[in-house]
Amino acid sequence: LFAGECEFFFGAQQLGQLPDPDKPEIAFAGRSNVGKSSLVNALTGRKALARASSEPGRTKQLNFFDLAGRLVLVDMPGYGFAKAAKSVKEDWQEMMFAYLRGRPTLQRVILLLDSRIETKASDIEVMDLFDKAAINFQIVLTKCDGLKPGPLTRKLESVRALAAKHPAAHPEVIASSSETGLGMPELRAELTAFALP
Ligand code: GDP
Repeated sequence: LFAGECEFFFGAQQLGQLPDPDKPEIAFAGRSNVGKSSLVNALTGRKALARASSEPGRTKQLNFFDLAGRLVLVDMPGYGFAKAAKSVKEDWQEMMFAYLRGRPTLQRVILLLDSRIETKASDIEVMDLFDKAAINFQIVLTKCDGLKPGPLTRKLESVRALAAKHPAAHPEVIASSSETGLGMPELRAELTAFALP
């Protein structure tokens, strides 16, 4: 699944223009700068994804990537810009909720949290949104290379406790690093389980 191509094929600015839901889909969400592009690149072994999603104009849309014709990866726009107006935040939530509710092929959301910073109110709001949309989500801690074993264990414990409060959250939390490759085998296994044969 991860040996071949991961190709950008669609960018949606409005929900009226999503690609046909004909393959299992996994979406990636997280605050801006959480390390989402780096993680998806490390996962798929490609650079194209970062380039595609960092092109101006592509950052505010839902970007669809085809993985070997067997799975679709969706890059959700980053949330939590400190300066974003309330209306922008509400628009984001509305659009994401509509996408989550209306996408029959969506199997799971991978929610990224930065291991080095505290979980923010916007992260909790997004988890509430996933609960409300009844979309299962897997929490993945990013940039774990920046933490020593003790603090990493404590962080994992506190985030597991947070996951336990959210009915749609997977009880396990994956520690990852795009730099060292930590967590990549677990994530690849999880994605492979949803892919077409
Ligand atoms: P995005 O905005 O969520 O797509 O985040 P990026 O992938 O662009 O990464 C944001 C910043 O975090 C960049 O400066 C990356 O170099 C850094 N970063 C991303 N992943 C890692 C990681 O695994 N470890 C470390 N130490 N830094 C990372």
